[in-house]
Amino acid sequence: MKKKLNIVWLKRDLRTTDHQPLFEAEKAKTDYIIVYLFEPKIINFSDSSLRHQQFIYHSILEINRSLKKYRRKVHIFKSDANAFFEHITSIYQINIIFSYQETGINITWYRDKKLHKTLISKNIKWVEFENQGVCRGIDNRINWDKNWFTYVNSQVINNVFTVNNFDLDYKKFQFCIDDFSNYKNYNTYYQPAGELFAKKYLSSFINKRFINYNNHISIPEKSRYSCSRLSTYLSWGNLSMRYVYQSIKNSRNYLLNKRPFDSFLARLKWRSHFIQKFEVDCSYEHTCINSGYEKLIYPNNDIYLESWISAKTGFPIIDACMNCLKKTGWLNFRMRAMLVSFLCHYLEQDWRRGVHHLSKFFLDYEPGIHFTQFQMQAGVTGINSIRVYNPIKQSKEKDPDSIFIKKWVPELAKINNSLLHEPWKLTKIDLSGEKIPKHYINPIISPELKRTQTVKNLWSFRKYKYVKEESNRILKVHVRPRKLS
Ligand SMILES: Cc1cc2nc3c(=O)[nH]c(=O)nc-3n(C[C@H](O)[C@H](O)[C@H](O)COP(=O)(O)OP(=O)(O)OC[C@H]3O[C@@H](n4cnc5c(N)ncnc54)[C@H](O)[C@@H]3O)c2cc1C
Repeated sequence: MKKKLNIVWLKRDLRTTDHQPLFEAEKAKTDYIIVYLFEPKIINFSDSSLRHQQFIYHSILEINRSLKKYRRKVHIFKSDANAFFEHITSIYQINIIFSYQETGINITWYRDKKLHKTLISKNIKWVEFENQGVCRGIDNRINWDKNWFTYVNSQVINNVFTVNNFDLDYKKFQFCIDDFSNYKNYNTYYQPAGELFAKKYLSSFINKRFINYNNHISIPEKSRYSCSRLSTYLSWGNLSMRYVYQSIKNSRNYLLNKRPFDSFLARLKWRSHFIQKFEVDCSYEHTCINSGYEKLIYPNNDIYLESWISAKTGFPIIDACMNCLKKTGWLNFRMRAMLVSFLCHYLEQDWRRGVHHLSKFFLDYEPGIHFTQFQMQAGVTGINSIRVYNPIKQSKEKDPDSIFIKKWVPELAKINNSLLHEPWKLTKIDLSGEKIPKHYINPIISPELKRTQTVKNLWSFRKYKYVKEESNRILKVHVRPRKLS
């Protein structure tokens, strides 16, 4: 007789509060284990990076610390999901697998489809719960707003745990940290991982950091403090969106400071809105949202691309953003948008050439937001305005004292502030005695920043029939809704 067991499969929901799969597993009154799978196909894919895996690993350690008193922990395995579930179901009688629905890229979607079939053939129930107000299988958004508000205002789950009396004796696929020793050394420049820190960031935002939320939102240095900085915790599920929403709404500060808090809450809704778009059609991972733009030909140039990735474009604010992002994993929205605009509009590169570089650098990488925002900023949706961010203008406006540039391009730190936005204006006298890298005197493209052929094409494409038709389709109807079976 095989031992009866349920499984809670954690993915982007690394927490113990407001967690429906854990709640239902407790309710089911059958022994259950909690698992996390480092899936080789997924962690080796071009959108993923070590910093994501480290964040996940340290979030799990945090869960394990808080569950220790219940003799529970997250069992970590290194295996593709299908292989793992195929095997464990041959050892134990698995009744139910509980998890959240995952709005992921193509490989996770097709993995889920395959797994769904496997589990049906084995008569195993897989219960997937809706996540952060994103609905699966819808073909219109008629009641979407209403449903989102119902979700964020519904009761937060108070997870309670019973003491576990079952010892899992299952060694296959076990994850051994010594084989992944680089997961241990979490860089202190990144936001600390786990639910405990997530709650600390939330409470410091509610109690004091919110004050300049709107004023500093686009300022590269100040926004690091005034923005909520909750994106990483939401992306890996250290916090549920409902928990964040209600913590803000129920706080004493909310009623007295509605403006900044309401701006923040509006963004929480955008978050679900973007993920919903991707849930409906994850081909956006590699195809233009407006497929009319597939016909646009970019000059593409490896030297330009490399200068962008390696922060050597010679435009101080661009290089500062890239250096900061690489080191810390975070940039504010405006600076992210400017990096994409510079790549696609001034360096004239196809968005696909940069999209995975940034997903790897963003500690808060969330496919549903990332691919749709990247395409919006690249100007290939056909329904949004094409925004070309001039980096010199942005630099002067958003970093007038060059505090951010000096911090992230230290080679320029000694230069007179007024010239830091445009170091190519330095004269021989200014340069005497200063060793500054050549690319700041001869940037990768002319600092005149004339309107490029690509930008002209992006605009003229909007008049074409197939781009217009696509725009109408995007605004009115969806593709066929995605369903697992
Ligand atoms: C090219 C590009 C790629 C991006 N990729 C990601 C990504 O992978 N993951 C990610 O979380 N955000 C992404 N964003 C959106 C945005 O830049 C970040 O959410 C924000 O900077 C995170 O900082 P914060 O938590 O302090 O945000 P806050 O300003 O405090 O906002 C609160 C929350 O609202 C959500 N949010 C804020 N702005 C947006 C937006 N424009 N669209 C959707 N949701 C939003 C986030 O969850 C954020 O945590 C991207 C933006 C661009 C331009």
